[in-house]
Amino acid sequence: MAIRDILTYPDPRLRKSSEPVREFDDDLHQLIRDMTETMYAASGIGLAAIQVGVARRVIVMDISRDRNDLQVFINPEVIDFEEGQVEFEEGCLSVPGVNATVARSARVIIKAQDVSGIPFEREADELLAVCIQHEVDHLNGKVIVDYLSSVKRDRIRKKLKKELLSMENQAA
Ligand SMILES: [Zn+2]
Repeated sequence: MAIRDILTYPDPRLRKSSEPVREFDDDLHQLIRDMTETMYAASGIGLAAIQVGVARRVIVMDISRDRNDLQVFINPEVIDFEEGQVEFEEGCLSVPGVNATVARSARVIIKAQDVSGIPFEREADELLAVCIQHEVDHLNGKVIVDYLSSVKRDRIRKKLKKELLSMENQAA
């Protein structure tokens, strides 16, 4: 297993729409293992493959308190939304230091495939519903800053870009 680098906003790769997974092979399983290790190492509750630079529709998630309930969704799709909304203050491993209050459906039905390609459906509410919608956004090139006003978004983009540049200069 290996911890992979997490891309940070405004990296343009985070804007890519990810491709469906068709081969449920060793490459995919290696990617899932690496994503899982990367998520746990970063103390995140969810990670989409594009956040480690791989434009494939793969999500790993663990919202349990004991960090022992890994969930993997391949080619996930929200097939039904319920009308009620919840607001959570969301963070994102790709937008460090930023929280955004986002309104999302309180309950959704997800269709996805497991690591062997077997399709399943599941109903999600509360944090799981929020987390899945957040990660599916990543697969469609969307980031939490998109829910903020353009003024705020600009400010965050400039700040994170500056931090990235100074990190690169130090590394050089
Ligand atoms: Zn995120």
